[in-house]
Amino acid sequence: METKQCVTCYEVKDITSFCVRRRHRVRHGESYIQINIPNSCKACEHAKRTAFNSTHREAQRAYGRQRWQDPAYRAWSKIHQAEKGPEIQARYRKTEKHQVVLRRYFATEKGQQYLHNKWRRHAEKRKIQIETSVHPLTPREWRIIVRSFRGLCAYCGKPWRTKRSRKPSMDHVIPLGVGGEHTKNNVVPCCWPCNRTKGVETWVPRVPGVPIVSLTGLTTLPDPQRQHPEQR
Ligand SMILES: [Zn+2]
Ligand SMILES: [Zn+2]
Repeated sequence: METKQCVTCYEVKDITSFCVRRRHRVRHGESYIQINIPNSCKACEHAKRTAFNSTHREAQRAYGRQRWQDPAYRAWSKIHQAEKGPEIQARYRKTEKHQVVLRRYFATEKGQQYLHNKWRRHAEKRKIQIETSVHPLTPREWRIIVRSFRGLCAYCGKPWRTKRSRKPSMDHVIPLGVGGEHTKNNVVPCCWPCNRTKGVETWVPRVPGVPIVSLTGLTTLPDPQRQHPEQR
């Protein structure tokens, strides 16, 4: 494994602890990428940058404002935002920092209101989808389907009956949100944990009475995006 000594903290570290800078260069009319590994490790570079930023905040803001005056930069920024924005946002949403910010927001009154509205919108959308199905599921059909699964979750095969609830949750194999219908061919009983983790994905339910291990060649269902974690 390649190592390198950091000139700031004098520690010998693995090469992956140093960042890699790639620069587009042109020499004799040919463009190439120059790779440069700085002499300080990532941690030291970060510390230096943070220290510098904290003492030069005003100057940096002024620089940003000045830069924003340039129409060429503004145009580039718009394009960059449109191209890379969703990707950058998706990366940020996976970070622990975002989770902390979210939790703090949902604890406030405004955040609670947001959640409430979101769930109400969701419920209204579901209601419309159920009402507009051609042959909506009848209670009798649902009872028959539930009975055929003999108390076992359609995805993980474990009993759905827990201390908290005796009934299974009704799951739409193709979620209503992505065009699934509220009909007898699209609902299965499953345990609450499965329904919660499934979300808007499509999983292959097992055939009633058949254990999960022998689940092969289920071609009547539309192509599943993903199977239950325990089936893989
Ligand atoms: Zn260092
Ligand atoms: Zn389950």
